Amino acid sequence: MTQKLVVIGAGMASGRVLEHLFDAGADYEVTLFNAEARGNYNRIMLSPVLSGEKSYDDIVTHDADWYENHGVTCRFGEHVTAIDRSAKTVTGENGTVPYDKLLIATGSAPFIIPVQGKDLPGVITYRDLDDTNAMIAAAAKGGKAVVIGGGLLGLEAAAGLTERGMEVTVLHLMGHLMERQLDESAGFLLRRDLQNKGVKVICQASTAAILGDRHVEGVMLEDNTGLEADLVVMAVGIRPETRLANDAGLEVARGIEVNAQMQTSDPDILAVGECIEFDGHLFGLVAPLYDQAKVVAKTLMDEPDAFVAKELSTKLKVTGCDLFSAGDFSQGEGREDIVFRDPGRGVYRRLVVEDDVLVGAVMYGDTSDSNWFFGLIRDKTDIAGIRDTLIFGPAYQGGTPLDPLAAVAALPRDAEICGCNGICKGQIEDAIAAGASDLGSVRATTKASGSCGTCTGLVEQVLAVRLGDDFVAPAAASVCGCTDMTHEDVRRMIKSQKLTSMPAVWQECGWKTSCGCHVCRPALNFYLLADWPLEYQDDPQSRFVNERKHANIQKDGTFSVVPRMWGGLTTPNELRAIADAADKYMVPTVKVTGGQRIDLLGVKGEDLPAIWADLNDAGMVSGHAYSKGLRTVKTCVGTDHCRFGTQDSTGLGIKLEKELWGSWTPHKLKLGVSGCPRNCAEATCKDIGIICVDSGYQISIGGAAGMDVRETELLVQVPTQEEALYVIKAVTQLYRENAKYLDRIYKWMGKVGLDWIKERIVDDQDSRADLATRFDLSQSIYRKDPWAEHAQTKVERYQPLATLALEAAE
Ligand SMILES: Cc1cc2nc3c(=O)[nH]c(=O)nc-3n(C[C@H](O)[C@H](O)[C@H](O)COP(=O)(O)OP(=O)(O)OC[C@H]3O[C@@H](n4cnc5c(N)ncnc54)[C@H](O)[C@@H]3O)c2cc1C
Ligand code: SF4
Ligand code: SF4
Repeated sequence: MTQKLVVIGAGMASGRVLEHLFDAGADYEVTLFNAEARGNYNRIMLSPVLSGEKSYDDIVTHDADWYENHGVTCRFGEHVTAIDRSAKTVTGENGTVPYDKLLIATGSAPFIIPVQGKDLPGVITYRDLDDTNAMIAAAAKGGKAVVIGGGLLGLEAAAGLTERGMEVTVLHLMGHLMERQLDESAGFLLRRDLQNKGVKVICQASTAAILGDRHVEGVMLEDNTGLEADLVVMAVGIRPETRLANDAGLEVARGIEVNAQMQTSDPDILAVGECIEFDGHLFGLVAPLYDQAKVVAKTLMDEPDAFVAKELSTKLKVTGCDLFSAGDFSQGEGREDIVFRDPGRGVYRRLVVEDDVLVGAVMYGDTSDSNWFFGLIRDKTDIAGIRDTLIFGPAYQGGTPLDPLAAVAALPRDAEICGCNGICKGQIEDAIAAGASDLGSVRATTKASGSCGTCTGLVEQVLAVRLGDDFVAPAAASVCGCTDMTHEDVRRMIKSQKLTSMPAVWQECGWKTSCGCHVCRPALNFYLLADWPLEYQDDPQSRFVNERKHANIQKDGTFSVVPRMWGGLTTPNELRAIADAADKYMVPTVKVTGGQRIDLLGVKGEDLPAIWADLNDAGMVSGHAYSKGLRTVKTCVGTDHCRFGTQDSTGLGIKLEKELWGSWTPHKLKLGVSGCPRNCAEATCKDIGIICVDSGYQISIGGAAGMDVRETELLVQVPTQEEALYVIKAVTQLYRENAKYLDRIYKWMGKVGLDWIKERIVDDQDSRADLATRFDLSQSIYRKDPWAEHAQTKVERYQPLATLALEAAE
């Protein structure tokens, strides 16, 4: 006997269920409700409709004839308001219908962030054709759009609106786009490609309010950034549409709970699609819904079948943004990464392997092999035998790896080797024939590899091919195992290619790991911060533990706390505050450091925020005794009290410390100012030393009194305090912009030579002024007391640590 099947929701899942039922000739009389005033269409093609590549007619999956041919009673545009399980009826806005079997396929509802202004006209979600048409109509007027949410949906909306001529900004709460599907490197490439299309992207952007009177006018972020907007698209997530099921007393967790046969807690009611929860899983992509649809049809025909949740993959439908992500690519113990990067083509591939099985894959730029990789993940294939060539895709399996020199040898003479300088292989060969025998001489004669340096390896290979055994490749140390590039090459790339984030560096410099290691991350963090103070945000996680904790960890796991005493000067009040803090926090040792500061040794980790707060209250800030930055400016008493003093050395020391404090440098930076050549402040063994003389100030650099002991060398003598300050800021900036991370000034000077520094600081007035200006700019952002911030807001981080590291607290 024909049974009555009522379906609520004409979405992608229920459309498939009906196809399977009718194809199998099941004996059902179907009533199909849909809140939308239309039947089934391919929802995932709404983005091509938005961008203008397709029309609604192109994406209809079941037309009026199809419903008629299959005897489906269509109640489109009618919202179902209730299910009565005892009477076995469904009530819509236009009346009630009985059912033998009921299928709930209500999909999801978009999540709306509960901010002021969310209900203003001009704020829309992205879920159905009406939303799409509303966006198309808004875009026809032009103007600015803000898309909240940098996930799949938000980015497709942003790309579509840009195609239609709007000025679009995407706001994303997290550090990189599509963070659930992509790692940071792929996120960087995606962001770059979107920006190239004209989409502006702001990450770590938290929406505080939507502004406007009668219509949306703008968006305000938590950090008080204001953005104008004629249209706001909210695409921050979805949640299963479970209201009807809830009201009907079905079991509902996050979604409507179903068993493997897709039955709800009432066996006559089935559910399918985004509205369900199965075995703790929710579903937001169509592939699993199609599997579910098959099972629903079987269950309705009383045939056995069971739904199994499988691995999923993601792609983005934005032209020019080829991305693929599948499986689990989080880092974890026992997991290894295989990474391939081709900066020139913007290609990135990362495979995550665990126990010889591929468990995750992220690809950007070239996703042609994605299906093959997805198959390996899904089938849990043992990849041990093809591991070496796995990353290159199916075409390379079983092949023999090429001799790298053979490829270079085969290049024609007009093949470009150095793109920046337009140097081809033939020019390099000519230089070699004329006597160039190493990288330096090829660079000097042809300029090849002299700009950003990424072609260095290729130039060396040309040398190796031409000179054979006579060529000895320089053994320049790479930053770490994540890259073959040296610090100098990476710094050059950061500047020349305007790389302003770590993922940008990893990608463009071809890092072999997905996100660096404990060696390269602190160095990159510093380089980016020194070169791009406005664009780059410091990453505390990429700092050594002392810098993260804002205090030195001592060998018993306690901390030493050093407040700043400007120029070595203090006051009775400050001393009282230090003494009170020592009493209150039971500090076992109070010591004067070699840099004339007071060190409170033996403070418990959990007391750090409180002791800082007390010292802050007395007007003191962190002495940065733990930082790769300015530590102290040691002074003598100078003219104020000493009979030999020629200048106010203490006053200059205070001024210098106030100018330089908080600045990050490649290594720790210590200064000394002595009031006369008797040099009581021992200024000539500091990184920068100043000796005051009758005629002015002798500024010398490159001293050391640690593992190496060295005397400073004279940089310049200047007549006034102002000029001394100016020169010291400039030389500090030159050091920040050029030195290798963890090189003290003397080491850096040994590499570049004092003359090179003099040329830029002493001989070239413009260069000196530019450097000082850039130093001031950086200081306008980074001259901050880390104690104050952490004492107020990050108290919970200061729990006892298990790992110990000892560093001198000077
Ligand atoms: C713009 C966009 C792009 C997407 N792109 C992709 C993609 O590239 N790849 C991918 O795999 N997935 C994509 N998705 C997700 C995919 O479309 C969904 O996973 C899929 O449509 C869910 O199917 P469903 O049948 O569960 O729900 P839906 O297709 O959402 O259908 C549910 C229907 O139920 C109706 N309804 C709800 N409540 C009631 C009620 N009380 N009475 C009557 N009717 C009701 C709704 O109006 C709706 O028409 C995209 C989604 C969107 C919005
Ligand atoms: S490496 Fe630099 S020098 Fe060589 S091609 Fe590229 S950008 Fe140019
Ligand atoms: S360096 Fe000269 S001025 Fe300074 S304290 Fe010593 S003797 Fe006095």
